Amino acid sequence: MLQLILYNLLMVKKSKTMRIKTKNTADTQKLARIFAQNLPENGAFVSLFGDIGAGKTAFVRFVLKDLGVKEKITSPSFVILNEYKGARVQSSDILVYHFDLYRLEDDGLDTIKEELREYSKDNVLTFVEWADFGGGELPYNRLNIKVYYEENDYDDTRYYEFEPVGKKYEIFVQKINTQAAKEGLK
Ligand code: ADP
Ligand code: MG
Repeated sequence: MLQLILYNLLMVKKSKTMRIKTKNTADTQKLARIFAQNLPENGAFVSLFGDIGAGKTAFVRFVLKDLGVKEKITSPSFVILNEYKGARVQSSDILVYHFDLYRLEDDGLDTIKEELREYSKDNVLTFVEWADFGGGELPYNRLNIKVYYEENDYDDTRYYEFEPVGKKYEIFVQKINTQAAKEGLK
């Protein structure tokens, strides 16, 4: 019985998680456009995991360009947080916060915790790279994106794995999945 329950739990988790392979940056750009087109209108909280150079910032950059951000989109790895105006999600303007917590020192954590809390609210779009350094301040409901490449893989292949937590993000990921399949990404 316990085994059956565990099995079901695993299957549920598995079915909600979606993985897409991109063969080059053009594929990643396509995936980012699909992501942008299906974003919930009240925004989203997205945490990105993966090694340096995996493609976290590249993905965010493509998404923001697609949403109409005109400013240059740079990696927040030194400044920790970048803010952008001028993103349009489902035809309303939304503020964008792009964190990279990799270089966050202990004494910066308190400040950033406040901001993370603030930016977990509705009607903003927040991306957090290296969220593991965030001192547990992430909202429970969110979309986790894991980006990775296979060892011994020196080409441009990347895997983007979407793991939704909460109904809103499950629906979002389902939509991305459906459209990605239609457009030949899998
Ligand atoms: P991270 O933010 O994860 O540290 P970046 O996004 O800054 O990584 O860097 C990813 C690098 O990998 C970029 O130089 C990008 O051009 C390159 N790249 C090669 N193939 C891909 C791909 N399929 N998707 C995204 N980026 C790719
Ligand atoms: Mg980065």
